Amino acid sequence: MVLLLIGGGHAHLNILRDIRENKVEYQVTLISASKFQYYSGMFSGYTEGLYSEDDIRIDLEELCEQAGVSFVEDTIVQVDALFRKLIGTSGKTYDFKVVSFDIGSTIKELEGIVIQTKIKPNFSFPMEINEFRKTTFPVVVGGGAAGVEMALSVQAWRYKNDFPPNVKIISSSPILMSISKKANLKIGRIVEQKGIQLYENDRIKEVYTDELVTNSGKRMSSSNVFSLTGPESSRLFEDGSLPTDSKGFLLVKDSLQVETYPWVFGAGDCVTMDSYPTLPKNGVYAVKQGPILWHNINQYLAGKRLKNFKPQRNFISILSVGQRQGLIIYGKHAYYGKWPWWLKHWIDVKFMKKHMKK
Ligand SMILES: Cc1cc2nc3c(=O)[nH]c(=O)nc-3n(C[C@H](O)[C@H](O)[C@H](O)COP(=O)(O)OP(=O)(O)OC[C@H]3O[C@@H](n4cnc5c(N)ncnc54)[C@H](O)[C@@H]3O)c2cc1C
Repeated sequence: MVLLLIGGGHAHLNILRDIRENKVEYQVTLISASKFQYYSGMFSGYTEGLYSEDDIRIDLEELCEQAGVSFVEDTIVQVDALFRKLIGTSGKTYDFKVVSFDIGSTIKELEGIVIQTKIKPNFSFPMEINEFRKTTFPVVVGGGAAGVEMALSVQAWRYKNDFPPNVKIISSSPILMSISKKANLKIGRIVEQKGIQLYENDRIKEVYTDELVTNSGKRMSSSNVFSLTGPESSRLFEDGSLPTDSKGFLLVKDSLQVETYPWVFGAGDCVTMDSYPTLPKNGVYAVKQGPILWHNINQYLAGKRLKNFKPQRNFISILSVGQRQGLIIYGKHAYYGKWPWWLKHWIDVKFMKKHMKK
């Protein structure tokens, strides 16, 4: 095989769309853990009951067929970068000339705590969230954008479906603090208005069947803990054969290429760029890396010069906060209302349409 794409993440979607338009002369195979790629931008709307499962997922097999790319459903568990071989959970071995990883991240484990709801890999999301939103005492751990958005969406679903609106958030810091002070103040008010019980600057210490205890000694009812405490590296790169950062993310150069094995590329959450070690892991950067990744893979195969990926400093993020309202954040600015939700809806639907049958 000339090119193996591992994982149907955002950057690889861009490659598949491009191949669909401009065919390539060499063989390409996509190997992904599921034939569906679930789009996290629409997780909040699905949770609240605004979108169906088909609205939020891309059929990778179909997209590959349209592009003339082979599709294999498998989870890669071992990499031999030197001898250019991969092994999947199916036991199959895959050879390649060039490989690119876009396998996303997993959710951080909380030491000694049993987490009941896990939405990574992303194809487990609908089943997990369907259970969580009906649980007697839902607890979301994590005060970043994903945690707050999911808590607000579950709360909105519970209001609509006559379940007690009793979602709790436990966050080790003030919520959305890493984004901006203004966003933090606004979201604090929204969370309060929507009746979410918020516990900031605290952590879970112990979880029992129907309650949990925090580090500060608070006891609270809990029937299901949903952790969204930030991205953790997949275990794929942990055998040490490929360079990683201290957290196990694949280390790449500005060309999105591994220094020691230039035939290995990577993009999205699963990589750390050597020059930008603190770059946030989100869909925005994974999408933006797509065109450079594709250009560089082709340049490498042709023996030509590669380009560097330069991340933009600021980006717009829009959080769905329930009842078709949104909080739009750009740099230090934050605005809350109806139109940010409609803008988000328009962007997300447009993104999904790009992957539908032509
Ligand atoms: C609830 C929630 C909401 C979010 N909302 C936003 C948002 O609004 N905007 C934003 O920018 N970011 C958002 N994020 C972050 C965003 O989801 C991730 O940063 C983004 O999905 C990363 O994209 P990716 O291309 O790296 O990988 P992913 O989108 O995670 O895709 C990885 C793919 O690889 C496959 N895979 C995984 N492991 C293997 C393996 N070993 N072998 C083969 N295939 C494998 C998976 O099945 C999947 O198809 C959100 C995250 C969450 C949890």
